[in-house]
Amino acid sequence: MYDYQNKPAKETSQIDSPASEISIHRRTVPIQDPGLEEERRNCLAILDEAISKLQNKNLSADTKNKIREIFEGSTSQSKIKTSRFKDELLLRFEYMRRRLSSARFFYNKDYSAYSPTTTAYVHSQETSNIAINITNYYIEQMGTPFNLMTLLHEVSHFSDIKRKPKWDKLYRESGTEDYFYASDPMTDDTQEYIQKSIAGLGKFYNKMNDIEYSKSIGRPKGLSRLKTALNNADHIALLALNLGKEKVKEAQYIDFSKRHPIVQRIIKEQQARREARRNAGN
Ligand SMILES: [Zn+2]
Repeated sequence: MYDYQNKPAKETSQIDSPASEISIHRRTVPIQDPGLEEERRNCLAILDEAISKLQNKNLSADTKNKIREIFEGSTSQSKIKTSRFKDELLLRFEYMRRRLSSARFFYNKDYSAYSPTTTAYVHSQETSNIAINITNYYIEQMGTPFNLMTLLHEVSHFSDIKRKPKWDKLYRESGTEDYFYASDPMTDDTQEYIQKSIAGLGKFYNKMNDIEYSKSIGRPKGLSRLKTALNNADHIALLALNLGKEKVKEAQYIDFSKRHPIVQRIIKEQQARREARRNAGN
C-alpha cells in the first residue's frame, strides 16, 4: 500500500481483510488508460536500466554510489559492501519487472472514501493475474515521479521470489514490507524528487531504534537495520528510480478524448476544485 501521508499501514490482503474491505474490493473495475501505460513503460525502462547495471560482475563506482546513497543511512557501517547483496537486488528487480509487465490496472470508486490516504494497493499473495489497484489520488498525480515511485513500490510487494539460501532464510519468498515510508517531496522534477526522498530516508535509522515502532510494524527481531531496509518497499522503489532515472521519458501529450472515462471524470473534478479554490481566493 502506498499511503501518501506516511502512516505506517499494513498491506491490504485478501486473507486478513475485514468484511467491509472485502465488500469494497468486489466493486473494483479494470481500467485501461494511455497515461497509465506511459507510467508503466517508464517504470519498465527504469527497471531494465537498474537490472543491466546490477548484471555487471563488478559494479561500476557510479552504481555503487547510487546504492550507497539509498542504504548508507540505514546502518552504522561506514562503507557498505554492495557485493554482499547485489545478487539479491538483481533478483528482486527481475521479479518486479516480470510482475509489472503482466500486471493489470484496476480502479475502485469506493476505496478513496474508505481509505482517503491510500494511493494504490495490491494483494501481495497474488502470483498470477497480478492486479494493481489505483485510487482517485493516483489518477490526480498522473505524470509525476510520485506515481513512478508508487508503481515500483507496489510491484515490490509481490511474493513468490525464489531466493538464494542466505536471503531465503531472512525473507522466505515474501516481497517487500512497509516498514518505513519516505515522505513525499511534492515535486514534479524527478531529480529533485529523488534527492529529497533520499534525505527523507535519513529518519529510518532512528525509527528503527524505537522498539515500540519496530513492534508496531512487525519488524522481525534480529533483522539488522540494513537488512530491514533491503526489504522495505520505499528503499527498493527509490533505489530502482535512482539507478534508472535517466531512462524516464517526459510525459507525452495525450488526447483527452482517448483517456478512460473514469480518468476523464477525476481530472475534470480536480480541475473544478482548483477553479473553485481560485475563485474563492479572489
Ligand atoms: Zn506498500
